Amino acid sequence: MINVLFSARPQLWDTYHDLLIEACATKGIAINLGTDIPAEQVDYIIFAPNPTLTDFTPFTRCKAVLSLWAGVETIAPNATLSQPLCRLVDTGLTQGMIEWVIGHVLRHHLGMDQQIKNQNGEWAPVAPPLSKDRPVTILGLGELGAACAKALVQLGFPITGWSRTPKSIDGVRCLSGSPAEALKDAQIAVLLLPLTSQTENILNADAMAAMAKGAFVINPGRGALIDDEALLAALNSGQIGHATLDVFRVEPLPADHAYWAHPNVTVTPHIASETRPETAVEQIAENLRRAEAGEPLLNLVDRTRGY
Ligand code: NAP
Repeated sequence: MINVLFSARPQLWDTYHDLLIEACATKGIAINLGTDIPAEQVDYIIFAPNPTLTDFTPFTRCKAVLSLWAGVETIAPNATLSQPLCRLVDTGLTQGMIEWVIGHVLRHHLGMDQQIKNQNGEWAPVAPPLSKDRPVTILGLGELGAACAKALVQLGFPITGWSRTPKSIDGVRCLSGSPAEALKDAQIAVLLLPLTSQTENILNADAMAAMAKGAFVINPGRGALIDDEALLAALNSGQIGHATLDVFRVEPLPADHAYWAHPNVTVTPHIASETRPETAVEQIAENLRRAEAGEPLLNLVDRTRGY
């Protein structure tokens, strides 16, 4: 029996308890799962950001920390963490992100706001272009960026993807190097990068200036990927036509933030996609099995890289 500490918001305990025990049993692992196991007796930690666990030093026999989140920017730099850290790659989360990104790309592509907001009796037929004439750039070609790129290729959009290391994805123009080059003439940019010291403010004034006039920004990545002042200036000048933002430097986004009031900004409350417990527990259980068998862990975070 291994001792597994569940360290997350209390509301998640009921959701995950039975699912985790069942998923582990399926892998042949019996776990003692708890929220108050003494630190020196903990073998593994299942973790989602919460205020009660910020110091990992007392967990002297802990063999791995398994994140319930895909983004690990709050825990990866934690200097007290000496154990291996795994992030979550969850099929349910990926599917949710594909659906959210497609929905918001199509909203802007089809100009749906025009019809939804302007029911004013004026018959003004303007047909949208076809997807083949709407270049989209996706910053980040990892689990989520690549999945969204493939889905948008299926819909006919010309897709450019940008990543740190070179990639090859059928139908996608894959670039690394200058972000402005990847964004050049893009009419829609989708941000699916992790937040690291390298990616903070990656969407700055220069990057937005490279995009087509009136382009759309869709950010389900992390808030600090965007230079907020530069985005507001680009929205006010018309260089950016609309920004759909799911993530922010400060969450919840303060009620007096300029984004709430801006007519060309859509704020969504960090709901682009979330971990789906039914599918997420499979990776957690598999990593516990691997760790116990001495096999390589899935989705190990490279702490020097930050993701
Ligand atoms: P991932 O698999 O780690 O992919 C990250 C991608 O970003 C990789 O393609 C990576 O390039 C690229 N990248 C990282 N640093 C870079 C740099 N300096 N320059 C260029 N490219 C860089 O991550 P993921 O699972 O796709 O998730 C991406 C992010 O989505 C997460 O970190 C999280 O912040 C966010 N997220 C948001 C929600 C939400 O609800 N809003 C939900 C889940 C996740 P390489 O492939 O070359 O390494």
